[in-house]
Amino acid sequence: MRYLSLCALALSAVAAFAGPVVIVDPGHGGAQTGAVSPTGAWEKDAALEISKLLKAELEAQLGARVKLTRDRDAMVTLHNRVDWANAQKPDLFISVHLNSMPTQKQRQGTEGIETYFLSAEASGDQAKKVAARENAEFHDKRPKSGDTLAFILADLQRSEAHADSSRLAYAVHEELIAATGAQDRGVQQAPFYVLMGLQAPAILVEVGFISHPDEGARLAETGYQQKAAEAIARGVSAFLQQVSAKNR
Ligand SMILES: [Zn+2]
Repeated sequence: MRYLSLCALALSAVAAFAGPVVIVDPGHGGAQTGAVSPTGAWEKDAALEISKLLKAELEAQLGARVKLTRDRDAMVTLHNRVDWANAQKPDLFISVHLNSMPTQKQRQGTEGIETYFLSAEASGDQAKKVAARENAEFHDKRPKSGDTLAFILADLQRSEAHADSSRLAYAVHEELIAATGAQDRGVQQAPFYVLMGLQAPAILVEVGFISHPDEGARLAETGYQQKAAEAIARGVSAFLQQVSAKNR
């Protein structure tokens, strides 16, 4: 009896120390290539590489249980990413993307990191354009009606997850800027489909501009990808410490 209760104690201690469940979502995949660099590198490939490195870092730094929405070059709809992620009952969701500009002049001149959390209204014209580009692959046969969208957003804004998404975004962004020395384009808000309906704190990181000649080249280097992955993991760790301090 005594042995059994000791076993039960040991098991509950193991459960208590089991790391957080984190979903890492590499943007795009398959025919959905995402943005492209001046030398022809695809966003979908760099996003997957950074996501795999991030998974390893979260496991190493936090003992996190990390699952990827895709672990190879495959197409996954935005809807399926959200539904599958919710089914895993995650503690956090991080979508990894690279940014891009449309015109030659803008591609030459725009670089830096933006970190997003969900909001009904974009925090500026540029944030609105980023969301429009990342949402472009949303082809649900039953498009979200205005009412459904309003409902989801209203629901999210009431929830604790929304405030935590903001905290997570700031924690990750700060670490990313410090580690990479990239231009700080700030924490932003916008209506991303891949962040809607998630039942956990969720952010989307635009790790840099793949369209910029220098930053685009850096983003394809494993060393730079690793630096970014380590920084995101440190941000997650800082966020989890904030949350646990708040709940004590
Ligand atoms: Zn993207």
